[in-house]
Amino acid sequence: MRLSGGIYSVLFYIIKQERSDYMTLKEYANILLPNVSHTKEEYEAMYKDRKLPDGAIVTRFAPSPTGFVHIGGLFTSFIASTFARQTGGVCLLRIEDTDTKRTVTNGIEEIIRDLKDYDITFDEGAISETEEIGEYGPYIQSKRKDIYQAFAKYLIENNLAYPCFMTEEELENIRTKQENVKARIGIYGKFAKFRDIGIEEAIERINKGEKYIIRFKSPGNFENKVIINDAVRGKLAFPENDLDIVLIKKDGLPTYHFAHLVDDHLMKVTHIIRSDEWLSSLPIHVQLFDTFGYTRPTYAHLSPLTKKDEGGIRKLSKRKDKEAAVSYYHEAGIPKEAVKIYIMTTANSNFEEWYEKNKEHWTDFKLSFDKVSTSGSLFDLDKLTNISRNYISTMKASDLYTEVLSYSQEFDKEFYDLLTTYKNYSINVLNIEREIERPRKDIENYGAVKREISYMYDELFEKDTTQYEHKDFYNKELLTYYINNVYDENDDKQTWFNKIKEICPRFGFASETKEYKQNPENFKGSVSHICELIRVAVTNRTQTPDLYEILKLLGKERIKTRIEKFNI
Ligand code: GLU
Repeated sequence: MRLSGGIYSVLFYIIKQERSDYMTLKEYANILLPNVSHTKEEYEAMYKDRKLPDGAIVTRFAPSPTGFVHIGGLFTSFIASTFARQTGGVCLLRIEDTDTKRTVTNGIEEIIRDLKDYDITFDEGAISETEEIGEYGPYIQSKRKDIYQAFAKYLIENNLAYPCFMTEEELENIRTKQENVKARIGIYGKFAKFRDIGIEEAIERINKGEKYIIRFKSPGNFENKVIINDAVRGKLAFPENDLDIVLIKKDGLPTYHFAHLVDDHLMKVTHIIRSDEWLSSLPIHVQLFDTFGYTRPTYAHLSPLTKKDEGGIRKLSKRKDKEAAVSYYHEAGIPKEAVKIYIMTTANSNFEEWYEKNKEHWTDFKLSFDKVSTSGSLFDLDKLTNISRNYISTMKASDLYTEVLSYSQEFDKEFYDLLTTYKNYSINVLNIEREIERPRKDIENYGAVKREISYMYDELFEKDTTQYEHKDFYNKELLTYYINNVYDENDDKQTWFNKIKEICPRFGFASETKEYKQNPENFKGSVSHICELIRVAVTNRTQTPDLYEILKLLGKERIKTRIEKFNI
């Protein structure tokens, strides 16, 4: 049987012990982390400096593949990729899958697909579970185990890291003790039981088969202050970190803190744009950068998206809020542009005003860190709906058709078939009161289109039984006369309206609204009431876009059939 590297090294040490009393830290590191193929220095030499224009931001989006893209992740990735694009820099996608318990199958594909839906693509990084692009990889952390271990070995060699043999139970006891006396939680000071054990004791424990992790030997003092400049929050003062945080876990993989140092250093990341849940870990992170003698990256911590709930304000929750999942917007048919415009509105306080004047080329807006809100942004679904409504109103009919078609293909087969069968007709329907100076704003998302225009399709209209709600509107004599003797498809709008006015006296209606308002008792209604009767008969609705356009698109025969069928 072949001995594994670790045991082999221990035996080697024992044999050697007979000859000498010491072991170098280098040898010790080899025992603690055997089978590491390169040194830290060798790895560093593999990652070349980037050649980028001055002021270019190198940033990254670093999600964990847990099977759900949170709207907060969409915000962060959109903001990060926008900064990179605007500065001629790089935004890379790094998959942080070191917490193997939380990793789900297809998680990576899901992230890539959900972000791509919003045109968020990356200059480098994973492009699927198995492929990646870029020269600073691997970009999937589970493939970087050797690299992290090389960096951890460097710390051990420099007496800045050590093996910790504490059991889960011991850790739990320490935690309870700390909670009971309201002490800070963590492994520091007297709680760092294995920090100063000798090499010999460590080796003995390893020989006995005790499991260990590698902890950082924090050089910090909690009484000291560390000053950190956050691009969003400005100057921040924290107590120095004195926690001996875990660097390498039992499974040989790194913790987030350590992986963050190694990856962001090697990948030459200049800006770390991430959620402010990491703000409290900042002293750990800068300490790691300082310990290695690396330039600290610029941190930009984004506030969470919040929501009003039961009189209070809380973070949008993955568990409670449907709108927390990016897939929700896709399923509702909210245009991706509307979501992006909304993100910009939330990201920079000066965007909204700028957008009003620059709608056509809003992507030229220059994001800036100092305009990012430092308190949580209230996630306002009504505002997003409004943006969506406005955005859809500015779309060309043919573009809207294409979007609704692709939405329906995924979510509504019946409507998809109708849109396909009646392509040009559908575009004309969508064009009613569109592509004009003040277009209608009745459609809030692609999912609502069917509801808004269903009466224009006989197949859907026939299923609509709401005419019973409108029977008071039915005036058979008038409508029959109108369609048989008055309506002419070739009339222009003015002539069409004048003709309706002309039949008013015949049926007891006033030709002018003013006339009716002066003496309502003398009339059954006015010309606008006749229009309403026609509208309800052919659409089953009391409110629709322009009636003249609707009649024209339906055509005389269909209007006639609908009037006849309305007979209830
Ligand atoms: N994997 C971390 C998370 O999902 C990334 C944080 C970061 O951007 O550094 O929260």
